[in-house]
Amino acid sequence: MAEGEVIVGLEVHCQLDTKSKLFCGCSTDYRSDGPNTHVCPICLGLPGAMPVLNKRAIEYAMRVAKALNCAVLHESEFSRKNYFYPDLDKAYQITQYDKPLAEGGYLEIEGDEGGEKRVRLTRIHVEEDPGRLVHMGNAERGRYSLVDYNRAGIPLIEIVSEPDMRSPREARKFLNKLRATLEYLSVFDSDKEGSLRVDANISIKGSERVEVKNITSYKGVEKALTFEITRQKNMLRRGQRVERETRHFLEARGITQSARSKEQEHDYRYFPEPDLRPLRVGSWVDGIVLPELPDARRERFMAQYGCSLNHARTLTGELKLANFFEKVVAPDPKGLSALAATWIADTLIGELNYRDMGLDAVDPGSFTMLVRLLKAGTITDKSGVEVLRVILDQRLRHETPEKPAEIVARLNLARTGGDTGAITAAIEEAINENPKALEDYRAGKAGALNFLVGQVMKKTRGRADPAELNRQLAEAIRKRGA
Ligand SMILES: [Zn+2]
Repeated sequence: MAEGEVIVGLEVHCQLDTKSKLFCGCSTDYRSDGPNTHVCPICLGLPGAMPVLNKRAIEYAMRVAKALNCAVLHESEFSRKNYFYPDLDKAYQITQYDKPLAEGGYLEIEGDEGGEKRVRLTRIHVEEDPGRLVHMGNAERGRYSLVDYNRAGIPLIEIVSEPDMRSPREARKFLNKLRATLEYLSVFDSDKEGSLRVDANISIKGSERVEVKNITSYKGVEKALTFEITRQKNMLRRGQRVERETRHFLEARGITQSARSKEQEHDYRYFPEPDLRPLRVGSWVDGIVLPELPDARRERFMAQYGCSLNHARTLTGELKLANFFEKVVAPDPKGLSALAATWIADTLIGELNYRDMGLDAVDPGSFTMLVRLLKAGTITDKSGVEVLRVILDQRLRHETPEKPAEIVARLNLARTGGDTGAITAAIEEAINENPKALEDYRAGKAGALNFLVGQVMKKTRGRADPAELNRQLAEAIRKRGA
């Protein structure tokens, strides 16, 4: 390890996408309902209420454990973690402590030094989500907070990594890969607000580590880590010591702030949950069959569709995106794959991000038509982008998007043929209007031809093919003689 090296470990809490909560029958589909409408004596922790373990939640957790190469323990145990906080109605959380569901394992990511890198995992355990506080005003200065127990008892898994990541970028890659894997397993919905939360341990080699709690967005993790690394390095540069402490990430301000106090592990007074038997999974775990996972799908995309490694990585990095690609190329995989991969990975994603839109905005059938128009040479790349933008903008305005061919016809985007009058006229015009460029070209300046190509492109509004134009322009100039 180099001096000043950054060491990052993550604890990731993911909500499992079950229909009911971990220990009661309350529905997990609470987000659009009013506060405290999905509660019962069990998830409110009323005296005498007895928890019953949700079998589906354990099956989901075991799927994750298997996919992440963990060893599922034959017997695990639930414990009570005691602490007081207003979002925890029972004053204890049912979690797993010294006997978690699974141990070990790893996740492969694209490392900073290129190639695949293994991030080792420590453990995966199952626990219940606490409720949620809604601060009136902000957390520091608000006058009061409201509490909503709809979230209390939602099944969570906590995935704890070893401190194997060396930069905020690697942490982001880890989270993206983890999210993709969970989605492929159909146990997690990353679109649901708050479905993934992260605690990060960060240190500079040789110094104490700092824990940053409750980062609630994917982008937040990279931001929090970057801020924290700069803060720690600055302290060390000034000769100060980094204290071992817990800090909170203030997302809106992009900074971390010291938490006033930190419970020690023994303060939680863990003890085995008396209302639940130890969990013995036996041969159940062996019967769990995994679907195709991101790595396997990436390899398949390269073998079956001839995708480049980068395109295959991007396309399989999200379940929806991978499915979209396969739908788009389905009518003609051989003919459409190469263009579709480029247009989805390089163009579509950028246009969607720019508009803050999801992939749902685009109909795969419509995208197939667009790729076919490009493939046939009916439109140029430039016009292809224009068609795509029209479709997305129509979606943004909640209109029914036109078909690509309709847009091409309406906006007169079809590529001008090789020697039609329009293009010949545009070439002649461009040469006549730019005698200086003509002179430069004849004097041997190759750049002058590019300038003229640009002029003709403008006149034909991008419908002419640049390579073909280059040839025609050179030809037209040659015909004029010296
Ligand atoms: Zn309940």
